[in-house]
Amino acid sequence: MHSASEALRSIPENRYAEQLRRGFRFLRFSQPLECEYHQYISKVQARYQKIAVVLGLGIWMIFTLVDLLRLDLWQRFPDYPAPLWALLLVRCSIILTLFLLTLLLFNGSRKHYGPQVITVTLLSLVLGTTLTIIFYQNLNVPISNSVLLLMAITLFFPLGLSFRSNLLLAAASLPLVVLPGLWLLAQAQQVDYLRLCFIFSLALLICAMGAYVRDHTQREQFLLLQLLDWQANHDPLTTLNNRRSFTQHLDVVLRQGRRESAKVALLMLDIDHFKRFNDHYGHQVGDDALRQVGKLLQSFARRPMDMAVRLGGEEFALLLYECDADQLQALGEALRNGLATLNIPHSASPTANHLTVSMGARLAKDGESSEELYRRVDRLLYQAKQAGRNHLTLG
Ligand code: GH3
Ligand code: MG
Ligand code: MG
Repeated sequence: MHSASEALRSIPENRYAEQLRRGFRFLRFSQPLECEYHQYISKVQARYQKIAVVLGLGIWMIFTLVDLLRLDLWQRFPDYPAPLWALLLVRCSIILTLFLLTLLLFNGSRKHYGPQVITVTLLSLVLGTTLTIIFYQNLNVPISNSVLLLMAITLFFPLGLSFRSNLLLAAASLPLVVLPGLWLLAQAQQVDYLRLCFIFSLALLICAMGAYVRDHTQREQFLLLQLLDWQANHDPLTTLNNRRSFTQHLDVVLRQGRRESAKVALLMLDIDHFKRFNDHYGHQVGDDALRQVGKLLQSFARRPMDMAVRLGGEEFALLLYECDADQLQALGEALRNGLATLNIPHSASPTANHLTVSMGARLAKDGESSEELYRRVDRLLYQAKQAGRNHLTLG
């Protein structure tokens, strides 16, 4: 069994592995990973919003029902003292807000709430809970003040806010709890109330620690998932895309090309006399040469739809979007020159004294399937071999 750091050492360099190695104590990835993570996490957490809003509405309604019974609201109607009217106003406003939010999510007009809606709702809940506690005290009805602790937990519930936003929200909630108490409570009650506020801040601190651990774990899980995906789609030796991702991407690119009337080019490349190279220099030097060829190929796949691939062994491919015949010809030449510049010695080659490649390439014709294109380019590559190697055959 490997430890995490040992396992990471055997994984080729990519941005997920690098971030895992570097760590993220301050809960920030380097860009563009941070952006990617935000998109991922807001989708994951949005799933909990439906549960949270229904739960919130349910709990608030239960508390309101208890009010009806405890405060004898039926019998006393409408002779209520001012704090009782105020209490009912708070109860109703919060129920109405949560009800509207529930409707928005469940009738399909919203998939999930944005951070502004979440922030305003949570702050309203904090204020509502605070005012409820205060009005209860003014009515001289005992209430378990620990409901405020429920609020501390709710503030850090995973609803799509980042840990930093959660912290800001917690900080903003403190004055909403402290100030109304100082303003609306009699002086004799204020000492007890401030004690409650102190406990509330401690609860916020403990919840924040829990949220930090949760965010850290979620970030680690995100990186591991992306790493798994990366490994399934890349070749570990050259870090180029592998045949599996190439097959999927080729279909996508051909379809997109048809939609946008853009030409798609496929170039396949096979290193000449590579068996002799391995036999002469050893497998390790062979691996290094494959890495160099991979790097060279990657430097030609610069745009988002382009892809450099290691098809297997010493065979590679380059898929280019929006490329015409002249550009394809020039690309073949540039690759050949690039290899000549790399000048990897191959004294066992009958073709040249440095490592060379044979290439086949063509532009996809209208309506040509990915299998047909692949088969034709493979045949062109075979013809390049027949033509004496170190050669590009265009079709
Ligand atoms: P040709 O010019 O006709 O393409 O001849 P070739 O020797 O390149 O082709 P062949 O298919 O006979 O040999 C391919 C060689 O590639 C055999 C194998 O040792 C080597 N090879 C395949 N994968 C790797 C690898 O991952 N690392 C190394 N070092 N060598 C590899
Ligand atoms: Mg081969
Ligand atoms: Mg070969």
